[in-house]
Order: sequence, then structure tokens, then C-alpha cells
Amino acid sequence: MPFAPISFHDLAAPGVGDLQPYQPGKPESELAREYGVSDIAKLASNENPLGPSPRALEAMTAAITGVHRYPDGNAHDLRRALASRYAIDPAAITFGNGSNDVLDQVARAFLSPGRSAVFSEHAFAVYPIATLSAGADAIVTRALPADHPEQPLGHDVDAMAAAVSGHTRVVFVANPNNPTGTWLRAGQIERFLDSVPSEIVVVLDEAYVEYARGSEGYADGAEWLTRYPNLVLTRTFSKAYGLAGLRVGYALSSPEIADLLNRVRHPFNLNAVAQAAALAALDDRDHVARTVALNERERDRLGQALRELGLRCLPSAANFLCVEVGAQAAAVNENLLRAGIIVRPVAGYRLPRFLRISIGTEGENDRLLAALRTSALAPLLERTA
Ligand SMILES: *Cc1c(COP(=O)(O)O)cnc(C)c1O
Repeated sequence: MPFAPISFHDLAAPGVGDLQPYQPGKPESELAREYGVSDIAKLASNENPLGPSPRALEAMTAAITGVHRYPDGNAHDLRRALASRYAIDPAAITFGNGSNDVLDQVARAFLSPGRSAVFSEHAFAVYPIATLSAGADAIVTRALPADHPEQPLGHDVDAMAAAVSGHTRVVFVANPNNPTGTWLRAGQIERFLDSVPSEIVVVLDEAYVEYARGSEGYADGAEWLTRYPNLVLTRTFSKAYGLAGLRVGYALSSPEIADLLNRVRHPFNLNAVAQAAALAALDDRDHVARTVALNERERDRLGQALRELGLRCLPSAANFLCVEVGAQAAAVNENLLRAGIIVRPVAGYRLPRFLRISIGTEGENDRLLAALRTSALAPLLERTA
């Protein structure tokens, strides 16, 4: 009997067939394989260019001998340390295998077919993945215009509040946003939290909070947690703490929401080595301070140099710049790859004229600038600044 052709695409759960897989930054090993280049500068995934804290490395080494045991499923020590750092109830913390996992927990706990989540155009790619995977509808609002004086292409929180419907259960707000780097001022967030019905879960994604604290008008969301029980803050050890490869993220929320997230959380989602490393990294305040200081210095310097090349950078409170290189962005990216420099094309975020460039060490940033000035690359750049 011949087989009738089966379309698993049609059989997939609602929403899954419409998803686009997440596009990560190209790994260094892949560039080395494909282009035969060595000595690679990876400025593509907003990682810490200084690497992990030496204390985290020590803690990981010590933890490795115990990996025949399951990890502490409640991450007791890390939970205590974070609770005391932020002066919050330990029961208000939910851990994730990266904060992406926490975003997915929110979606699985609050979204389902017939419900919707609201987020902005050009917002972080995991919001549509989490929303559609849960079978819910994505309501995507228009971003602010490209010529907005403070937050070009940033979140339009008024449009987001207006898009909330009777079926909406979750709103995702990235502050600062990836890939634009733009950030919301404290007053805007407060106004937004006041205007959204209090039964709607507002996720404030603070993956870059350590970098953003110095930016004008920025406020860390922790102070609003007691006032808005529908608020969920998500944070990560992947960025300023330099532990992207270990996958440690967490949410701060009301204990009631934390209890719901904990019900859908996969058991042992935080591995033992990661718990030990995060605990040590949290304690190494000097390493984070050095990281943030390097970022501020180099973000200013790189931004200035890019503007001198005629390239427009969106304002950034994070550890990357979203740079308008023009219609040839794909070719610019290709030439940078050949020069051993990995940046991030953001056409998938509907920003085809831009490249997102993570702030590297001084040497890495100089290398990027030198490549952009070469005769192969310079003619491809559209000067709009
Ligand atoms: C990098 C990033 C995350 C964090 O990802 P992890 O899963 O914690 O590595 C979350 N949100 C945004 C906006 C990001 O850019």
C-alpha cells in the first residue's frame, strides 16, 4: 500500500507552523569552518568581552566533581543571595535556563489559544516564539518613528496599552530593547503600568539592566514590584555577568505569579555548575563594575567613530549599538565575516538597513572600525548621519 503523503506542518499545534526559528549570532567555530578565518572578533551576541568572573571559573571547577548528582531543584543558595541583594522575598524569584526560559514559562502559564500577548515591532525575537508556541495570538504594535528625538524605533507604550484587548493576558516590554538599544524612561513605564488593566501580566525584560542604570531617565523595575502585583521582571547572567554559555536567568514577581511559573518550570532547569557559577559571579561586584565601565567608555567611543564615518547609531542603554549602514547591510555583513568580524544582521527584526554590533574590547572595536574604513567596505556604507 502506498503511503498517503502526510504534512506534519499541517499537523503541528496551532501557531507552530507560523514560527520562524530563532537566529542566533554566528558561532566563532562556524565562521572558522565556513570562511577558513582564525582570530575572530565576535560582536554578535551581546556577550561580555571580558569573559566570566575568575571567581565564577573557580566555582565551576569545584562544582564539576558533583555532577553525578541532580542539581538543587530550588537553587536555594542562589535564591538566598539574589533575595538579599534585591531585598525581596525568596519566594518571589523563579529561575530559568536563561531568561528566555522564564519568558516561555510566562507564556505557558498565562497564554493559550484564544488569548493574546502584546509586544512591539522590532522587539526581542523570543516574544513571538513564546507566544505562538503557546498557541496564542501575537498583537504587534508599531514602533516609534525612526526620527523620534529620544527613542527612534523604540517601543510606543501608548500604542501597546491601546492594543490590549479583552483576550490579552501578557504584555512583553524590553527595557532596554534588543536589537534597537532604546530604553523607556521611568515616567513612561509608570504611566504604562497605570494604564494597563491590573489583571494583565506585564513582563519587563531587563536583560541589560546592569548596563542601563547609568542612562538618562532609566529606572530598574524592582521598585515597582510591590506596587504592581501584575509585574514580572526578567533578568539574566548571560550579559553583564558573562555566563551566556551556562544559561541562568530569573524572574522577580509577586509570590503568587512565581508559584504559577514554578508549576510549569521544567524540573532541574538550572544545572549545578551554572548555579555555582552564578552565585560566585553575583558576588564579584568588581568584575561587573569593570564590565560596565568598559562598556560605557567603548560605547561612547565606538558610537562617535561610527558617526564620524557618517553612520547613524540608535541611542543605546545596552552593550550594543544598532547601526544604520544602509541598503547594502547584507554585503557589509558578508565583508565583515571575511575579515573575521561577526556582527548581527537584523533584517529578521524588520530592520534591513541596520546591523547590531556588540561593544567589544578596545582592540575588537578598533578592528571593526578599521574594517569599515577599508576600500572593500567603505563604498558599501550609506552615510545618513
Ligand atoms: C539576551 C537577551 C535575553 C537573555 O537571554 P538569556 O536566555 O538569559 O541568555 C533576554 N531578553 C533580551 C531582550 C535579550 O537581549
